[in-house]
Amino acid sequence: MIDMHCHLDLYPSPMSVVDEAAKQNFFTLAVTTSPRAWQATDRVFRRYSNIKVALGLHPEIVTEKASEKGLLIELISKTEFIGEIGLDGSRRFKGSFDLQKEIFESAILECAKQGGKVISIHSRRAEEEVLDIIASNPTCGIPILHWYSGSVTNLKRAIDLGCWFSVGPAMLRSKSNEEIVQKIPLERLLPESDGPFARDGANPIMPWQAIKVAEQISFLRGWTLRELERQLEKNLLGLLGRKA
Ligand code: MN
Repeated sequence: MIDMHCHLDLYPSPMSVVDEAAKQNFFTLAVTTSPRAWQATDRVFRRYSNIKVALGLHPEIVTEKASEKGLLIELISKTEFIGEIGLDGSRRFKGSFDLQKEIFESAILECAKQGGKVISIHSRRAEEEVLDIIASNPTCGIPILHWYSGSVTNLKRAIDLGCWFSVGPAMLRSKSNEEIVQKIPLERLLPESDGPFARDGANPIMPWQAIKVAEQISFLRGWTLRELERQLEKNLLGLLGRKA
């Protein structure tokens, strides 16, 4: 149905996955990890009207891709969808945190200058810093926190700042994430797979499996599956209506 965050270009046979995603999903957002990857991917995927390719620079690889910062900022005017960008404060990436901040902040500022974009954001162990940057740029568009796993306090702040959330089946394997999902406003929620990184057993999760999350969420929130699926569709249409 809908997959609001997947790495379509990183599956082992991307073209067959893309074909299938175009058939099975109503909408798929393929995020990229570098501006050059966006250029290459967008050129190939552009012919699918229900797949959009988001321009990104993943926080985990900013050191390797620092030279593409200028390109990232320059290309923001070429697309309505940005991602994956953000910050990662886990120990492994602490060394590049200043560079991550510089790149993320410039990208968000540019989104605001361009009148706002739909932005898929990584915020692992850096929720506060991500929210500070969003708060300083209230016209950056629609920030969608992907796989949000921070505190409930920061979640409330994110909601107050107008953030949306994308949640996937793999995320709901943890109890603390279940607690987060209990508190996300359902009119700001969208499904994601985060494939091929997120897995379904031994295999990478596929974009058309993102919707499995609706079963889990409908159970947690006491909605029928049908009601929740309709709400998710409505959310997507509202979002695309604002930013086509
Ligand atoms: Mn991702």
